[in-house]
Amino acid sequence: MGELPHALRGAVGHAYILEGGLPDRLAVGRIFAKGLNCLQGDACGECLSCRVFESGNHPDIFFVNGTKATGIGVDDVRDQIVLPMMTQPFKYKHKIFIVDKAETLTPAAQNALLKTIEEPAPYGVFLFLAAHTHNLLPTLLSRCVLVKLGEKLPKPDQDLQALAEEIASTIAGMDIFETMALYRRIEPYKESRESAKQLLDMIYLSYAKRITGAAAVGDSPHKLWFDSIAAIRHAKQVLTQNGNFQLAMELMLLKLNGKVK
Ligand SMILES: [Zn+2]
Repeated sequence: MGELPHALRGAVGHAYILEGGLPDRLAVGRIFAKGLNCLQGDACGECLSCRVFESGNHPDIFFVNGTKATGIGVDDVRDQIVLPMMTQPFKYKHKIFIVDKAETLTPAAQNALLKTIEEPAPYGVFLFLAAHTHNLLPTLLSRCVLVKLGEKLPKPDQDLQALAEEIASTIAGMDIFETMALYRRIEPYKESRESAKQLLDMIYLSYAKRITGAAAVGDSPHKLWFDSIAAIRHAKQVLTQNGNFQLAMELMLLKLNGKVK
């Protein structure tokens, strides 16, 4: 049974790494932040929060900048994230820190962030935007939901691809019985973990594409899509570690349709 706590761990909903090129990662980061604080919840563009954000003066959404040529350092992190995070939002629901070029965070700066990410204020959200994650410490990566934007699989298996698309497009709003019926469609891959992992990669990409696509036309990507990505990665991790297939997949499906947080 030792698996359940592990399966439940890791679905952090307040720290994200958006990995990808420009302008995608910035577009996704901006509209995600805007949507989180929007008074209508969907980056409407018309409420007070959206309007002050567009004017560049949002009191609770911060763009963190490195002040040194060497990258984003400890001082930057302390002054622009750790200290401001200690006080309540000025007016809106979340206090959001957008860190572009997160790959330039020095190791010391990343270490200085760990505690704030691990024990976040209830209103705190981190969006790390990075061209790549090679320089990010495993301790930081493991505390964030990694969303790879614009990634493609080399040669997708058509059956798996069709099942992945079906899962991603129908899961929202399913009741528990339909969800379990969907699990039975995945079950045949139980004995073929590589196919199962490929299926998870495809579902993942389908959500990533949806996020980038929404941002590209100015719509707010749903937070559930980001959290779904976390759930998918987690299921993959359980499979990689030879954990319980059924438990991992069922839990993931329940998370994808928002039944389980
Ligand atoms: Zn709005």
